[in-house]
Amino acid sequence: MNKAATHEQVERVVHQIEALNFKAHLSEGETATVIGVIGPNAIEIKDSLVHLDGVAQIIPITKPFKLSGREWHPDDSVYKIGGVEIGGDSIFVIAGPCAVESREQLMSTAEAVKASGAHFLRGGAFKPRTSPYTFQGMGLHGLKLLEEARAATGLPVITEVMAPHDVEAVAASADILQIGARNMQNYNLLFEVGQVHKPVMLKRGLSATIEEWLLAAEYILSRGNYQVILCERGIRTFETMTRNTLDLNAVPVVRELSHLPIVVDPSHGTGSWRWVEAMACAGVAAGAHGLMIEVHPNPAEAYSDGPQSLKFDNFAKLMGSVKKVSEAVGRSLA
Ligand code: PEP
Ligand code: MN
Repeated sequence: MNKAATHEQVERVVHQIEALNFKAHLSEGETATVIGVIGPNAIEIKDSLVHLDGVAQIIPITKPFKLSGREWHPDDSVYKIGGVEIGGDSIFVIAGPCAVESREQLMSTAEAVKASGAHFLRGGAFKPRTSPYTFQGMGLHGLKLLEEARAATGLPVITEVMAPHDVEAVAASADILQIGARNMQNYNLLFEVGQVHKPVMLKRGLSATIEEWLLAAEYILSRGNYQVILCERGIRTFETMTRNTLDLNAVPVVRELSHLPIVVDPSHGTGSWRWVEAMACAGVAAGAHGLMIEVHPNPAEAYSDGPQSLKFDNFAKLMGSVKKVSEAVGRSLA
């Protein structure tokens, strides 16, 4: 739309798009209002829109990802979640155990990560474990414990949802819903979280290309949930020294292609607590908006991901290093 386009003119265009049985997605940015026309062969309705008042130009979106791309939304997306800014200049840190194991474990971790400056508490209640014979999470009781930890610390909570039928319950408890790497292409689940009014953090699939990842985000955005955060958590390569290969290339690439905020998870990205701090710092230097770090009171006894979980004192040390790197690259901790 033209810079000077009125609200009525925008409405008129939206109305026309919908009357032609296409979906209209509105992006009101600082520089311009862009109306996305979504549907098969959308460019064919060009002639019915081009003469409407307020329309500046009709641009065919050439990339396969549309709503996650910068053509539709040129400015960075910035959300405020639980008082914390996501996607802006400041860096936010999500920390907590891989899985919620007990009230004591979660409460002590929540207090410790808060004291070190974390902004969000993580903890899985529903765990997507590689083997069905290992701990599968506390389920609904785990969600209640996360709510208790939020009440005690004030930290907003992020937790994974694995099944479409759990989305309602998880959305009622959590401040951010996490879609795990194994579910990145679970399209029914993506559609379901696309319909809730809670932000969604979409982890990159184990062997997903950046394009497949952005197309997965598209499933959520196209259902009207525009609060999507991406998370690079390492991909599978031939390397066996680390659990995954943390693909930090993805950070500048995604920031160029997409307006969505991006988080780096060096815990799953490396698989060993010894390398987490270095790669957390590298993630910030590469341009990530946030970090996700696994922390446990006693990693040796963790039910899941103990080897990559930091003890409280090492998490405090990591936060000190992340602060320094943030400042060195012209950013700051939120
Ligand atoms: C997790 O965050 O604990 C998790 C299961 O991560 P991923 O889906 O990236 O393996
Ligand atoms: Mn984990």
